[in-house]
Amino acid sequence: MNQEERKTAIRRMRVLVAAACILMLLYGLRLIFLQLVNGDDFKSQATNTTDYKFTVTAARGDIVDSRGERIATSVTSYNVVLNKLLMGDEDLDGMLQKIVELLRANGESWNDTLLISQPDAAGNYTFTAEEGSTRDQKALAAMKDNLGLQQYATANDVMEKLVEDYDLASYPLSWQRTLGGIHYEMQLQAFSNVNNFIMAENVSEVTVATIKEHSLSLPGVEIVETSTRSYEQSTVLPHVLGRVGKITAEKWKVTDENGQTTYPLREKGYNMNDIIGISGLESAYEDELRGKDGVETITRNSDGVIVDTALTTVPEPGHTVQLTIDSRFQKAVDKALAENIDMINRVYNTGSMKAAAGAAVVLDVKDGSVLAASNYPSFDQNLYATQYSEYSADESLPLFNRALQGLYTPGSTFKPAVAVAALDSGLINQYSTVFCNGVYTFYKGYSPRCTRHGHSGNIDVVTAIKWSCNVFFYDVGRRLTSDVYDAYAYKLGLGQRTGVEVSEAVGHLTSKNDSNYMESLDVQAAIGQGNTVVTPIQLATYAATLANNGTRYRTHFVKAILDSNTGEVIRETQPEVMDIIEGTGSTFELVRQGMRQVPSTITNSKISSYPIAIACKTGTPQRSETYAPGKHYLNAMMVAYLPADDPQIAIGITIEYGGSGARTGDLVVDIANAYFAMQDGTLNEDGTIGKQETAADSTPADQTAPAQTETGTDTAADTATDPAAGTTDAAQETAPAGQDALDN
Ligand SMILES: [Zn+2]
Repeated sequence: MNQEERKTAIRRMRVLVAAACILMLLYGLRLIFLQLVNGDDFKSQATNTTDYKFTVTAARGDIVDSRGERIATSVTSYNVVLNKLLMGDEDLDGMLQKIVELLRANGESWNDTLLISQPDAAGNYTFTAEEGSTRDQKALAAMKDNLGLQQYATANDVMEKLVEDYDLASYPLSWQRTLGGIHYEMQLQAFSNVNNFIMAENVSEVTVATIKEHSLSLPGVEIVETSTRSYEQSTVLPHVLGRVGKITAEKWKVTDENGQTTYPLREKGYNMNDIIGISGLESAYEDELRGKDGVETITRNSDGVIVDTALTTVPEPGHTVQLTIDSRFQKAVDKALAENIDMINRVYNTGSMKAAAGAAVVLDVKDGSVLAASNYPSFDQNLYATQYSEYSADESLPLFNRALQGLYTPGSTFKPAVAVAALDSGLINQYSTVFCNGVYTFYKGYSPRCTRHGHSGNIDVVTAIKWSCNVFFYDVGRRLTSDVYDAYAYKLGLGQRTGVEVSEAVGHLTSKNDSNYMESLDVQAAIGQGNTVVTPIQLATYAATLANNGTRYRTHFVKAILDSNTGEVIRETQPEVMDIIEGTGSTFELVRQGMRQVPSTITNSKISSYPIAIACKTGTPQRSETYAPGKHYLNAMMVAYLPADDPQIAIGITIEYGGSGARTGDLVVDIANAYFAMQDGTLNEDGTIGKQETAADSTPADQTAPAQTETGTDTAADTATDPAAGTTDAAQETAPAGQDALDN
């Protein structure tokens, strides 16, 4: 080896040594990394343990009123839950018998929706599904489907299948039925190693204690704390709050038109047995109310022994949803609506017509927040489950949200919208007049009428609103055309969404695109008839927009989202302008002048002498049904805002079969009184006004006294106008819809 070769060899040796050093260093680092950083992972791999993760449900957030008073809240309750993993090889049916006996001894029931009776003496079964209940019949059909049976299968056939499927032949018949029911429930809940089975819900503390005492002999039987919806004020705004319930099969497993199946709720972290908001605000604010579920991790080694149980993710409770309504005021409006419907029946509707339903909505005109949304009849959230069949069978539809979903012909309450359109578009000014002699004679063979109540001759816009002159609005409406006045009505909030957080009906304004359109429809729709239908909440929104000189805010029920632990405001609803009518000159001032004179035209009502100026407009649209040939039943409609000169609240009212819009004048006053009582601190928790001790004595007197004294005169006034209504009906048989003849 020469020197040159030796040098090369040494160089190679050095490179090798260096490379070896680097390799060793890398291995050393990896060893440290493995031991220190990933040590746990490797240990568990080496000892072969498995983690099982279970959801710990978060407490659902509360729904509170504008003062923070709780309306819907969550209470902790206890469920008996079976954990298949923890049960190990225990004999399942033997254990189910033990649990059933224990529950029976404590007077508890367990989940069993199998619609089959216990066996009779001869060992025969019958279906317990009610013939008249569509819910039961659907569940029965689904059960047969689930078990792979034909629809003609008898109760005995179903039991035979259950006994075979679940291997229950060795048990006495009554146990076959009991265990079969539980196994079927397990199948519905997809009971497995990763999916626990909720056997009994909302059990008593005594049952909880008993099960804990027997825990050694009942492996895998757990008591799980859960949060249940509870209503501290169960009659406040039930239709808008909505309901929570179990996830339905249709919402869990969604199959699109291409046959593609997805599980959208599972992707959002839900379990099949979770409780979820299914309607109203509970559904709209599900993501806020729901909270974040926690995770409990159970670690089992290769021998099946549980080596660790830990709450690996702590659940976070849902946020609080705060409403814009004050529950005291909501109760006061509920009460006023019910009492005024009763008053209308006692005083006016002494014949076949009976007012049985209605709605009233009150808004804060300054930001569009809802102060009250009342339905009559209504329901009690706490009785919903037990009285569901009565509620849903009731012909007066207590579950129907008339305030947001009810569609009503507005009648003359629509006239201010036409006045705004006529003034703002420049078709008329404050001096323009239309001659009214009681009949509109523009068309040949079609002569719609006006009662000429309180007016006659050349009528200007203020007088036309004050006395509800039909001829004025027929003429102005014809010249404007529905295209123009509809555009204004939409901007004012009629015939379109108000923007509330829950579902609402859109309504419809009569237009040239309607299939039954003819020119006379433009004339009829100008007095709020034709095909036009709106909701009570739209009427209130419209009244608020008139009060605001054309600025329409988004109508809303939610004031803020609060942190449920600290009460801090996370997000507050800001007033949102949806539309603006700039309003040339004195448009809104003239409409206000007309509307504030309306109360003086309403006889026999507290509204005509109310110390604070009220701007309002009545409506008395015809219903399609007649009570005598050519004589239609009439609804009572009202829009109002007050005080007229510095508006604070706006009101929309409908009373089905109310007979005349003017009859809701007292209701407007009752609402105003409750509002001012809320302002000055004299509104009680139950919605009554004044000191609690005296309220009981004075309220009934206030309610009954004026009504009784007015009976005679008002009935006379009604009979005087009724024949007129009859004749106008007969005279305009060619018209597509009736007119507002009774209005005053
Ligand atoms: Zn007239």
